[in-house]
Amino acid sequence: MNPMSSPLLSELRNAFRHESGVSRRLFLAHAGAIAAVPWLGSSARAENPVSFDKEPFSMGVASGDPDHRGMVLWTRLAPEPLAPNGGMPAVTVEVTYEVAEDEAFQKVVDRGTALATPQLGHSVHVEIHSLKPDRWYHYRFSAGGVRSPVGRTRTMPAPTDMPGQFRFAVTTCQNYEQGLFTGYEQMLRDEVDLVFHLGDYIYEYKSGQNGTIRTHLGQEIGTLEEYRIRHAQYRSDPLLQQMHAACPWFVTWDDHEFDNNYANHVSEEQGIDPVYFMWRRANAYQAYYEMMPLRRKCMPSGPDLQLYRKASFGRLAEFLILDARQYRSDQPNQDKRSPLNAEALEPRNTLLGHKQKHWLMQSLLGSGAVWNILAQQVMMGLVDRSTSEEASYSMDQWPGYAAERAALLQFIKERRISNPVVLTGDIHSNWANELRVDDTQPELERVATEFVCTSLSSGGNGTQKASDHDALMAKNPCIRFHNRERGYILCTATPSGLRSDYQVVEDVEKPGGKILTRASFVVPSGQAIIQPA
Ligand code: FE
Ligand code: CA
Repeated sequence: MNPMSSPLLSELRNAFRHESGVSRRLFLAHAGAIAAVPWLGSSARAENPVSFDKEPFSMGVASGDPDHRGMVLWTRLAPEPLAPNGGMPAVTVEVTYEVAEDEAFQKVVDRGTALATPQLGHSVHVEIHSLKPDRWYHYRFSAGGVRSPVGRTRTMPAPTDMPGQFRFAVTTCQNYEQGLFTGYEQMLRDEVDLVFHLGDYIYEYKSGQNGTIRTHLGQEIGTLEEYRIRHAQYRSDPLLQQMHAACPWFVTWDDHEFDNNYANHVSEEQGIDPVYFMWRRANAYQAYYEMMPLRRKCMPSGPDLQLYRKASFGRLAEFLILDARQYRSDQPNQDKRSPLNAEALEPRNTLLGHKQKHWLMQSLLGSGAVWNILAQQVMMGLVDRSTSEEASYSMDQWPGYAAERAALLQFIKERRISNPVVLTGDIHSNWANELRVDDTQPELERVATEFVCTSLSSGGNGTQKASDHDALMAKNPCIRFHNRERGYILCTATPSGLRSDYQVVEDVEKPGGKILTRASFVVPSGQAIIQPA
């Protein structure tokens, strides 16, 4: 169907004639469709028993957003993952779940039922609250007499505990057309407690636009069904499925879960109908919610989905998971690399939006953790990327929002926030940066560290040392490490230090690419410095 002729869109367009801007009110019809979903614990019942002649758990299982009592358990019924509605009839289906202490399910500690509804693409999000802190568990689902694969997940330590260590992986930017997800083979062996995905989980582009290693289905995605099918195509990757089944994930998005370099309701392209754009955003956000192990509080409402949230690993680490896309002001200087000019320094520019920024500051003030980990999207280091005399910075990243960045780092410095560590994705290259209130002033005190994680596959095989490497390092004193290979970051935090291992995959264009640790660094607790490990 042509998205511009959808009945909802014409309804929205009629309403739009009476409005001066895109209003939340326009999306009441869309939000209403989701609000009608029958919930676990409500009096709703499955409409009829189902039986499957194809594997219904083709998307595997996942868990996410753990706390010390439980987590979200996720699956989706999709006997034909790449077909409309996943090959499911438009009926509500009862799905049972079990959580056990052992892999053989001899010691089941929780079980129950949930409803997979057509309104949410037959996804299932079960929130578990009954478990013991700091333990590993196993879980599985069943529907229509078929059992899902078994997933492994864990609770976080109790809020008052000081664990001796925790390990996590950081991953981002997994373009399906440009490379294989080989990095997850090693991540599966790393025995991490959890994974942070920092966005670009899918790419929205049309088939063949990015590469030839594998091929996206269809045109650039816009409808709910197209976003669902794109997510299903990505999640069909066996390594991605295995990694989701191996431990809980905290996910956040960047731009490509919806549209390249968007800023709130503003498209990167000129002349896009704002009503169409927000309708498309509602589709993208709903499909994202459906496919991710997110709590019900993240349920989208039309084109809005509150994804920023916090969690903790005892008193060892607090996680602040940010959304730098949904609330930001438009990129200054037409989103072209620019010096830190008046437009870049404009105090009204915001990456986080007023509400999220204040929530972040309050959360940092209230945190008693040794490590305060900001899991977010775009590079915070003020990195001058020019090869000529005149400085030039990315306006899509924190330099385009330089006043907000400086205020946040000033706040972190003045309030003596314990060990702020920024995790970043987006730019398909590895960086380790020491952050100052103004990174162009190397004599200033260092107040935070940043680990920018390269892409898992986006961009295809990269380079260990780019031609501008030495010039970049020379003109940007904040950079301690930079390369452009593919891979992910493995982190180990203890009360005394945080270690980052840059894991690289030598070849993502053929199966079995060799994986090695390219560089390792340590941040000693109490100092915002990055040392070779
Ligand atoms: Fe990307
Ligand atoms: Ca991006």
